Amino acid sequence: MRTSLKNCKRIVIKVGTSTLMYPNGNINLRTIEKLAMVLSDLSNEGKEVVLVSSGAIGVGCHKLQLATRPTTIPEQQAIAAVGQSELMHIYSKFFGEYGHTVGQILLTRDVIDYPVSRKNVINTFNKLLENEIVPIVNENDTVAIEEIEHLTKFGDNDRLSAIVAEVIQADLLIMLSDIDGFYDSNPNENPESTMFTEINQITPELQALAGGKGSEFGTGGMLTKLAAAERVLKNGGKMVLTNGNNPSTIFDIMNGDSIGTLFATKDFVKGETGR
Ligand code: GLU
Repeated sequence: MRTSLKNCKRIVIKVGTSTLMYPNGNINLRTIEKLAMVLSDLSNEGKEVVLVSSGAIGVGCHKLQLATRPTTIPEQQAIAAVGQSELMHIYSKFFGEYGHTVGQILLTRDVIDYPVSRKNVINTFNKLLENEIVPIVNENDTVAIEEIEHLTKFGDNDRLSAIVAEVIQADLLIMLSDIDGFYDSNPNENPESTMFTEINQITPELQALAGGKGSEFGTGGMLTKLAAAERVLKNGGKMVLTNGNNPSTIFDIMNGDSIGTLFATKDFVKGETGR
């Protein structure tokens, strides 16, 4: 049991395109609706819930009926512009079914790095949460590209979610993936592979497991998940990596059940178990 997870109040949930969409490019309405129900109910319970959601480009491709994802940055940005509003429309509809309002927050790295705008971002989050509105965050794909001088890109949404958790001082980050947790080898290829239930520190050995040849599994990639976890641990936070295919497990995580892989410092684990 991870009893003290019950006390987490401010929670960031990160969901990736592979959870929101079927491999054939259609939208997974069932999962999105369940996610909206679970997050709405947690909010009803008094939790402060923030959703970091990818899917702008995936949903945009679907809306524009594109069979393949275009390769140029302006094309991808245009698709994200279409997809982001469509994505918010879908979320707004499903959260609305459960009596909740959502608010869109699009971020770029420079905004977080610059203290005045960072403060404004925090104020917006706080005001939304105070009013029981669920902030839905994505990178501002219109602006964010790789630049050296002017850092606008977070890199990926795993990192974005860790940064959001840090900026708003969340108690817990729940990273929904297409895999049940962090494994010692690819469970899709090796039936003997075992999942870590707890990780206290990101070591080069773990990084090698995540990025080593033939062991990079999960569409989001385990390396970006580990990098996010490293950031969370550095800031004394907690992260649970779990499968997004059944969003109801978020209730079990919040209940302290041992689901997925928990990334937390030794102090936290010691406090939990008296070890
Ligand atoms: N912002 C991108 C999108 O919404 C996703 C980036 C990522 O998932 O890392 O499509």
